[in-house]
Formats: sequence, structure tokens, C-alpha cells
Amino acid sequence: MDDSTPLAKAVADDARKRIALTGRRFPKPAEPRVLTVANQKGGVGKTTTTVNIAAALAHAGLTVLVIDIDPQGNASTALGIEHHADVTSVYDVLVEGVPIADVIQECPDIPGLWCAPATIDLAGAEIELVPLVARETRLQKALAAYLRDAQVAGTTVPDYVLIDCPPSLGLLTVNAFVAAHEVFIPIQCEYYALEGLSQLLKNIELIRNHLNPALHVSTILLTMYDGRTRLSAQVAEEVRAHFPDQVLRNTVPRSVRISEAPSHGQTVMTYDPNSSGALSYLGAASELADRGVAPIPSTTVTAQNDRGLTT
Ligand code: ADP
Ligand code: MG
Repeated sequence: MDDSTPLAKAVADDARKRIALTGRRFPKPAEPRVLTVANQKGGVGKTTTTVNIAAALAHAGLTVLVIDIDPQGNASTALGIEHHADVTSVYDVLVEGVPIADVIQECPDIPGLWCAPATIDLAGAEIELVPLVARETRLQKALAAYLRDAQVAGTTVPDYVLIDCPPSLGLLTVNAFVAAHEVFIPIQCEYYALEGLSQLLKNIELIRNHLNPALHVSTILLTMYDGRTRLSAQVAEEVRAHFPDQVLRNTVPRSVRISEAPSHGQTVMTYDPNSSGALSYLGAASELADRGVAPIPSTTVTAQNDRGLTT
């Protein structure tokens, strides 16, 4: 294939990905993998990454639960999930102790993909949670109970749980960090991309020391990558130098199709499955699935579940 110009290279890359990934089934992890998608900056692609990675994993035969813990509810919108004020949501799980099984809805376009939606009252949950008992571990307990009950009942246990966070480090994000084993950080390939990253890593360290020893940054995805600019390449180089083991090889390009999809209540995986945006997310999801078939020993997962159930 002709790789002599950037456009020809992009077309050739897409063709290679399409051939390598079309129809591929991704390996199932030994235990459910719970990832929190986090970055304290807004607008860096957290929600876009959450819903498209989730859709790509489901497309490749895995079962996925997206927990939308951002009061804006953008992940719920992109997955075509109802989340108006009357819908039972993650708010009810966190504040009222409603089981996760009672709030999840299946994504209409993507079999195997469920979503626990966010409603606007989650904005108040930051404050309503303050006086509650075990306010930092409410999501973790609800999720542990959900996974255990599904296992016992023989119903679908998700292979992946992805939690879409708001851009701040309030109690909602802390709940997401405590419920997860892994942190997935999308980084925008633009100026100031690394600003705030050290603060995020410090916060993760704090959570690890005090609330969740299993938490670690397992995955970093470079998004809004523009292959024509020196800046994108520089940011990518710098991030790869700092985190050689975490950064996925696939990068996600800046793409109009990716940004259009949510207004149709869709991910780019269904909106335009052959676009380079969809193929990049499929490639990234495939790496995520291949790398992490057994990211942490299952004893750690079990210990965590036990802790969640008994305290
Ligand atoms: P966050 O959840 O971190 O606030 P979003 O995922 O909502 O960020 O993305 C912010 C904006 O950028 C949205 O309008 C989204 O559609 C757009 N966007 C995200 N990723 C891309 C991309 N790869 N190409 C073009 N637009 C993108
Ligand atoms: Mg978001």
C-alpha cells in the first residue's frame, strides 16, 4: 500500500485495521475488569472513550456495563439510554441504596452493553453523600453486590465495567476510584495535555494508600491525535516516555464522525463503523482486552469483593 502521503498512510492504516479486527472476538478476562475512566480536565475525551471502548468490547463479543457517574449524563445520552429526571439512576444507587440491577438499561443498538444512567440529581449527590455512612465506598459495595448476585443467579456477569467520571475530584469520582481496580486515562494530544496529570496521579496515590490498595493506572489512550501536526507527535512522545507500559499503541484521531455520533444517541461504532475513529477505538479496545486478560491476581479481586460485602 502507498504510504507516501499522510492521507494515503491514514487510508492504508485503516485498511490494515479493518482486515485485522473485523469479526475478531476479544478474549474474556478471568474476572470482571472494573476500570474508571478519569482525567481531571474536562473535554479531553473521557465520555467519548468510555462509550466507544464499551461499544467496541461489546461488538467483539464481551459483555459490558457502563456506569455513568457524571451528573451531565453524556455517556447515557451517547448510548441512547433514557436519563430524564424520573428515571431510576446511579443517584438512587449511591444515595438510596437501590441495587444496580434495578437501574441498568440495555443499550438499544448494542447487544451485550448495559448502562447505569446518570440523572441530573447526581449533581446534588456530591453534597447529599457527605453525612452518609461509608460515603466513599457506596458504589464499590453496590457493584460488588451486583457482581456477586449475578454470579450466584447465573445471569450475565459483565466482563468489563467502565465508569465515566465527572472532571472534578469530588465524592462521585472518589466513589469511582474506590469501586475500580484500574484507572484508564484518556489524554488529549494538545497543548497543556500533561497539565493536571501529576495532580491526578497524586490523587490516585492517595486513594490507593487510604481506600483502595488495588487501584493502579493500567491504561492510557492518546485521543484527538492529529498526525499532521508536530504538536500531537510531541505530546505522544512525551506521554510514551513517561508511561511506556500503559500507553496503548492505537491513537484516536480527531474526527468529525466521533463528535457527531452522540447527537444521534449513538457511539461511532454503530454510527459509522468503518470510519477511522471507529477503527481506532476498536484497535484500542482490542489491545485493552489482549493485555489485561489477567491484570491482577484473582485473589485481590475476591478480597475486595469480600471487604465490600462484609463491612
Ligand atoms: P470529557 O468527557 O472528558 O469532558 P468528551 O468525551 O465529552 O470529554 O469530549 C469533549 C468534546 O470533544 C465532545 O464534544 C466530543 O464529541 C469531542 N470529541 C471527543 N473525542 C473526539 C475526537 N477524537 N475527535 C473529535 N471530537 C472529539
Ligand atoms: Mg464527560
